[in-house]
Order: sequence, then C-alpha cells, then structure tokens
Amino acid sequence: MSRVTRVAILHAVTGPPGSRLAKLLAGGLEPCAPQRGVIGCFERVVASVSITDETGDTTSCDAGSALPEGPALHEAIAVRLRRSGAKLQWGAPSVVPDLRSLLAFCRARGRSSIEVARADPSLVSGMQLGAWFDAGGRMRALRRLASLERGRGMSRLALSSSRWLAAVADMAFWAGVRERASPQEWRRFTASSYVALVYHRFAGEMKPGQERVDIAPARFERQLRALRIAGFRTLTAEEILAFHAGTTTELSRGSFAITVDDALADCVTTLRRHVDRTPQLFVSTHELSGFAHWLAGEPVATWEDVLDLAGAGVAIGSHARRHRRLTPLSASLLQEELDGSLADLRARLPSPLEVVAYPNGDHDLDVCRAARAAGFRAGFTTQKGRNGAGTDPFCLRRVSVHGQDGALAVLWKVLTGQALPAFWLRLRARRGGQAAA
Ligand SMILES: [Zn+2]
Repeated sequence: MSRVTRVAILHAVTGPPGSRLAKLLAGGLEPCAPQRGVIGCFERVVASVSITDETGDTTSCDAGSALPEGPALHEAIAVRLRRSGAKLQWGAPSVVPDLRSLLAFCRARGRSSIEVARADPSLVSGMQLGAWFDAGGRMRALRRLASLERGRGMSRLALSSSRWLAAVADMAFWAGVRERASPQEWRRFTASSYVALVYHRFAGEMKPGQERVDIAPARFERQLRALRIAGFRTLTAEEILAFHAGTTTELSRGSFAITVDDALADCVTTLRRHVDRTPQLFVSTHELSGFAHWLAGEPVATWEDVLDLAGAGVAIGSHARRHRRLTPLSASLLQEELDGSLADLRARLPSPLEVVAYPNGDHDLDVCRAARAAGFRAGFTTQKGRNGAGTDPFCLRRVSVHGQDGALAVLWKVLTGQALPAFWLRLRARRGGQAAA
C-alpha cells in the first residue's frame, strides 16, 4: 500500500477583495521580523491551516493535540507539521472585514500564543511569540508602547502604508501577549537576551585579508576590561543551554558570551589566560595539528592543546570534522561531519560541550535537523543579532569582532548584536588613511 503524503495548506490573513486593506496586505499579513533566521516564525501570519492528502481530499490531523483552542492554535499546528517534515504550501488567505477586526484578531492571537506556550514551550521558537528579538531596537521600543492601536490616529497610520500596517498589527499582537503573560513570562520573552561574540585568531599580525579575524591579544584584553567596567558579565555555555531549555527562565541584564572558532594555534595562550571569562572553543576535530585550509594555512592547535584548555575550564564544542560548508553535503556526509565530530570530542574529553558552531556559519533546515539528530543541544550561526528565549537554539546568532575593534566598538556589538554602522566604519577608514599618510 502506498503511503499518502499529507500537505498542509497555510492561510494568511487579508482584507475584503478590492479594499485598501487587501491592497496593503497583498499576499497576507507579515510579522515584523526583518532578521528572521532559517528557523523562526512563518513569513506570514498563519490564520488557519487545512490538511489535505495528495489527492486534494481534506483529512484530519493530530498536530493540535493537547493544545488550547484559540487563534494561535493554527500557527502552533503549522509549527508541529513543519517539524514533522510535512509539505507546507500557502493557499488563499482568509478575509477579515476591516482593520478593526484585523487588529482584534492580532491581539487575540497574542493572548492565545501565551496559552499555547504554557501547553508546549518547545513551539515558541517557531511562532511569532518567539520573534521579539528578530526585530530591531526601534521596533521593540514601539511594541513597548503598544495598546495605543485603538486610537483613530493609529488607524489612519496603519492604512497609510504596508509597513505601518504591519507595524501596528505587530503592536496589537504584543499588546495581547502582554495582557495574558505573567510579569515573569513577559520578561522571559521580551527582556531576557544575550549577544554572543565570535573570535578567530589572537595574533595581531593583521596579514592582508585577515583584518576581520585577527585580534592582538592586548586588544582583546582591553576589550574584556572595558566590558567588565561597563557592567557586562559573561555567560557560561551551561547557562546558555539552560536558558534556551527553559530551566533558567531569565538572564541578568548585560549578559554576553565569548565564542572562538577554528582552534588556531595562537588562541591557546590567550584563552588559557582568560579562562575566567568562560570562553567556548569550537574545534574541527580532523583538522587539529594541521594547517587551516580555510584560513591561509594558519597552524591549528593540537589535541594536547585542546585537552589542556579543557582541563583549565574552557568549554570545547564542535566545528564539524573538516571545516567544510555543511549545506551542500549529502545526508551521509553531513552525518559524518556532525555525528563524527561529536564522537571525536566524546572519545577525547570527559565532558565536551554538545554545541556545534557551523563552519562559515553555513546552515539550513536540514543542517539544523541533522545537528539535533546527532545529539547536539544547540548550534551557533554567524547571523547577527541578539538571542532571546524564543530564538531557535539551533540558529543562535553571533556577531564577529574584528581586528580594529576597540573598546567602544565591542561595547556597541555587545549592546546591539549588530555590526558597526556605516558612518563609524567610514570614520575609521578616514582615520586609518590619515595615519598611513
Ligand atoms: Zn571556522
């Protein structure tokens, strides 16, 4: 008997045909999430889901079991179906009669999302509720002013452009979340977050082409001192895993993490000196004692170095086996890179860090699924931004620290999770030019 594949048809939300609302919503209402990762909320707000088999017949599904009824239920079902590997397609959007009904729907979805999260917290990273830190600082500030959307002025603003409509609908959603969330839940989803920094070399040689990945050890020390004076504290790998697993519900303000990729030979002395800042080192297990084919043949640390660092308290995680891009690999090669590297770490270290940093940050849904199946508990990318409780643990964001970054630049990165703004880089380039002249 052949197996019938289920197809889930997702329905977004739009206005009545020919209305201004329908024109502004075009393909359906989008959540305000400009930094969306490969795993995150859907690109459009899911109003409902219908399940069919390949013949087009409507069928039933149990993806909503043990979840509370409400307007966020269908989004939660869609998350479960996506995770189970079901085929998802967008169908015709559902129609709401007017703006007022749309905003009421958004607000009710916010309240309902909290109830879904209480029933199954694992769904949050795929829902709009998990997307607070996908938006930039300005949008987050606007959301805090939410609950204003009932005003007539707000309605006029909403109908002025697609962007404003998305923003006002987003504020209505978060107003609903705030109504239903306990103070602790509200803080967990919207206030608790951290930035992960990523470093590579600690030589300060600034060879041409390595300006972005090579930091002088003395500069690194100054950065750490500045961060400490400014009141920032480093998170351990275990604190990060506990936060994403929900066993720790909140993080203190000013939390950040130090991660180092590649295990190049010059990182050993520097990391040993700063073990108290709880760095996490990600090693490509089959490249140790060799030369980095991905970085101008720089020497890579040895297993003895890595064991020594682990003994001193540095958390050692995986950077796959051979530092290859993971997304083009076949399923069997991907498994060898991921499962193999974890097996290598477990064979050598008493308690390796079960976290992978994808080489070159290269990842997609298949890579994240394979990392989870291999036994990892989280994965670091090189997408910039802050990580919140709703960020998928296999899509954690990091921001890279560059060779010319001084104390102020690293403070900016730890505060925002973002690269330096263009004017800053222009100013730096001009000053560099003057110094060279
Ligand atoms: Zn690397």
